[in-house]
Amino acid sequence: METMTRALYKEEMNYMDNSFNIDNEEFKECVRFHGHFCPGLAIGFRAAKELLRLIGVVSRSGDEELVAIVETDACSADAMQVMTGCTFGKGNFIFLNYGKHAFTLGSRQRNIAFRASLRAGGHVFNNEFVELFEKMRSGSASSEERTAFLKLRHNTGLRILDMDTERLFKIEEAAIRLPPKVMVVRSETCPVCLEPVRHDYLNDLNGILTCPSCRKVSERPGQG
Ligand SMILES: [Zn+2]
Ligand SMILES: [Zn+2]
Repeated sequence: METMTRALYKEEMNYMDNSFNIDNEEFKECVRFHGHFCPGLAIGFRAAKELLRLIGVVSRSGDEELVAIVETDACSADAMQVMTGCTFGKGNFIFLNYGKHAFTLGSRQRNIAFRASLRAGGHVFNNEFVELFEKMRSGSASSEERTAFLKLRHNTGLRILDMDTERLFKIEEAAIRLPPKVMVVRSETCPVCLEPVRHDYLNDLNGILTCPSCRKVSERPGQG
């Protein structure tokens, strides 16, 4: 299984090398980070570019000046991270599990934010794409079908890169309360697992202050 995945990856990389000729260093960086070129990545890239333009920022966020909110954990979220410089680890990249291709970018300094959401019908995967994707996922795609899938995914991505912003996204100013900057928080040791944990994450479990994972373990059926 492992070998098959690797073979597939290599095949894809070869395909990319031979056909990927987008003259855009920023987008190439997104592809390098994400691992492949796909329509979702193109959507995230387009959204990030437009949102950065709207809030008047040219370069990505080195610190916590910008805050990004993504309403999906799909491919597009990776392009948002690369382009805006907002990252999960810096605490200025927030994931809302809403299952939407929608992205918000805000600036703390300027106190503004915009949200771009994919328009209904703005971009739809055709049946062929969906069918091939399913075959790829289940591992039943023939070698011709794999090539056809890579080609179709590639071309769909290219089309999105070229689409009118207006056709692709609904864009509106967003009234959001930006989360406060990350603070350095004191740790304490959980008395059950003996691992250090943010002190304000300790909570009562049967009279003992324990960490979230130890509390989770006790919730599993058939235990404690
Ligand atoms: Zn992808
Ligand atoms: Zn613990």
